[in-house]
Amino acid sequence: MAAFHQHLGFSAFVGSAYSATLWCAGVVEPAVAIFAGATCTFAGMLPDLDSDTSKPVRELFNVLGMVGALLALHRLRHQASFPAETCLLIAVATYLLLRYGAAAILRWCTVHRGMFHSLPAALIVGSLMFLVYDPAYLAARWAVAAGMSLGYLSHLVLDALWQLRSPGGLVALADGGPIKLVGQSRWANVVCWSLLLLLSYCVAVEMNWLTPLEPYSQRWLSALNHTARDSFFSR
Ligand SMILES: [Zn+2]
Repeated sequence: MAAFHQHLGFSAFVGSAYSATLWCAGVVEPAVAIFAGATCTFAGMLPDLDSDTSKPVRELFNVLGMVGALLALHRLRHQASFPAETCLLIAVATYLLLRYGAAAILRWCTVHRGMFHSLPAALIVGSLMFLVYDPAYLAARWAVAAGMSLGYLSHLVLDALWQLRSPGGLVALADGGPIKLVGQSRWANVVCWSLLLLLSYCVAVEMNWLTPLEPYSQRWLSALNHTARDSFFSR
């Protein structure tokens, strides 16, 4: 298995190359290109959040909480109806939720190298970033979201290369290595793919590729309204 610092080094290398490509291609502004590369570097450490034995990984929850709080503030900056204190409270709640809640949940329901180490998981983190990050123009949004998935993927590739070097590695890799679509746990597969479908739908709605479905709550409310009105007039 590749160690934490090797994952960090590899994703930093991939992130720098990604930044340079974006910058040279002129797709986004230099600041966004650097941010996308930094996002890629950060995402390269995320798959090992399912391991609760490593100290650097435990510290990663701290970083995850801080990044989450910053992104929450970024997302709320245009909400004029929210006073500054409410935005700060939401940011603090996001930090605590990710720092302690996510750590506890992941420790409870994940196994190391389960569906956290899979291709759909790489798409999930990219989709989440796309939905949370809201820049002034669309190319920046795609660049940062793709950087997130790319960094995550770099981790899976390095783990797969390490597995190949071990005795019988090729067989183990073919039998469900880190670059996989489904794992051994049926429930983990269902949760992972359902989450990816849900987030893909949200991305499609955000991009206006799909019209949002009418929420069930609204349908129930309007049905209740009709029933109440009918029973009132029939008296
Ligand atoms: Zn790993």
